Amino acid sequence: MESIKTYDDLLTELKVLQQEMEETRFRLEEATDTIEAIRTGEVDALIVNDGDGHQLYTLKSADQTYRIFIEQMTEGAVTVNPDGLILYSNSQFAALIGLPLERITGKSFFRFVTEECKEDCQLLIKKAWSQSTKGELSLLTDQNKKVSVLLSLTTLDLDEGLSLSVIITDLTEQKETQNLLEQKNAELEEAQKIAQHLNANLERTVKERTSELEITIREKTKIEESLRENQQRLQRVLDTMAEGVGIIDLNGHLIYANPMAQTMFSLKESQNKLQVFDAPNWQTLRIDGSVLPKEEHPIVIMLANQQAVYDQEIAIQQPHHNEPVYISINASPLVDQNDQLTGGVVTFTDVTARRKAMQQKDDFISIASHELKTPVTSLKASIQLLDRMKDNPSPVMLTRLIEQSGRSLEKLNNLINDLLNVNRITHGQLELRKKQFVLADMIDNSCHHLLAVGTHQIQLNGDFNVTVYADEQRVDQVVVNFLNNAVKYAPDSRDILITAERMTNSIKIEVKDNGPGILPEKIPHLFDRYYRADHSGAQFSGLGLGLYISAEIIKRHGGQIGVNSELGKGSTFWFTLPH
Ligand code: ADP
Repeated sequence: MESIKTYDDLLTELKVLQQEMEETRFRLEEATDTIEAIRTGEVDALIVNDGDGHQLYTLKSADQTYRIFIEQMTEGAVTVNPDGLILYSNSQFAALIGLPLERITGKSFFRFVTEECKEDCQLLIKKAWSQSTKGELSLLTDQNKKVSVLLSLTTLDLDEGLSLSVIITDLTEQKETQNLLEQKNAELEEAQKIAQHLNANLERTVKERTSELEITIREKTKIEESLRENQQRLQRVLDTMAEGVGIIDLNGHLIYANPMAQTMFSLKESQNKLQVFDAPNWQTLRIDGSVLPKEEHPIVIMLANQQAVYDQEIAIQQPHHNEPVYISINASPLVDQNDQLTGGVVTFTDVTARRKAMQQKDDFISIASHELKTPVTSLKASIQLLDRMKDNPSPVMLTRLIEQSGRSLEKLNNLINDLLNVNRITHGQLELRKKQFVLADMIDNSCHHLLAVGTHQIQLNGDFNVTVYADEQRVDQVVVNFLNNAVKYAPDSRDILITAERMTNSIKIEVKDNGPGILPEKIPHLFDRYYRADHSGAQFSGLGLGLYISAEIIKRHGGQIGVNSELGKGSTFWFTLPH
């Protein structure tokens, strides 16, 4: 059992304790001073209590230089003894760990190494005792933060033996930089990939667009070519058209005229701009020959109504031209994209020949009616007289009337034959029944009826004793036609001369009268259908078919036909037959 302490015992114990405390405080102060002195380089010794008692570590003066030097470094630096205790630390290492220096010095270096790096660190330190070495690992700060560092270890010769100098380079920034670099690299790679992708896309798009463009260009070229071809074709059509084509503007000015239109209106290139319905070059007429008022002009009507007009005939009288030119006009309005009238396209067809043919046909019909009526009337009269005489016939009268009827019938028969022949010729049905015959026999026959009339005298000249291979009846028809015409158109010339002349390969037969002759300008038309040089029709009867039929007959035989005539001296109609 513990004895009860007295006040004095307690006072003594207190004094002892106070003394011990004073000593401890003194030692603490001393230790603090020592550490400060070591840190600042004032002292060069250090006492370390490692559990087995205090140990003293002293630094050589050279070490002091080293310490000053490493204190200036931006890296952390520590010196460790073979047990890994930190003999010295610079303030940069303390700052890295986040502890005051006094809590670092004398501590094991491994304390500040992360758990996972401890083994590596031990190996590194172990190796460093034999050779300088380096290694990366992570330290653990007081705030439990891992810091990547590079340790550079090398031995250091201290008074009490070898120490290890450890330089600690904070790799945080480097790692961050590296991370950043890696991140940037990754981003760059990603960007590169995107760029490559875009590039590939772009290339594909460019290729596609290029080929599209090429196709478009090819198509365009094709279209242009076909357009040009069409244009040329159209130009050729316009150039060679038998119709005149013109384009007029709103005011009726000719802004284009094809070659035929230029010819029809005797235009020169420079005159293209002229006004078509008020042209100074010509006078516009109705087809009856009266002046055509402007408002009746087909082009004016087309522009006013904005509607096409078709086959509107007008006549144009140009100065120095004997006869007007008849023109059929087709005109259509031209409009722009907005349906606004801009003018018109006009085709002009010269219908003068058509008009003349129609006129000829009309004339022919009236002539034919008249011609047919004459013998019919005469025949009718003869029959009426014969009828009256039937109860009391007079032989003289009877003979005369029968002869007259016969002549009328013959005339009628001739007219009908002419008409039938024309029809046959038109339809290519004029047949030839060729045979050998002696020309003299045929001429005898041709002259027979004329000689019977007794009004004219026929003279023959030349060699008629020649055999011909031809359609005797048709050739006879030609000669009879020549003779009848001589009688008809040269009534006062009693003598008619028929000549036969052997040529190299043919025989030529001529019928010459001493009549009034034919006007030179009429000669080229004599053998045309329905052509009658005497237009009055009053003086001489006829259908204007005889010479036309004759010409066709001779042409079918392969011969030629013609006339030589001089006014006042008579006419010589001739034809040849191959022999
Ligand atoms: P048609 O006698 O019925 O009129 P033709 O064809 O026989 O028809 O003659 C055509 C025209 O030629 C006649 O209208 C006439 O003017 C002219 N002609 C024909 N023969 C003669 C002639 N011998 N002398 C003068 N004119 C003639």
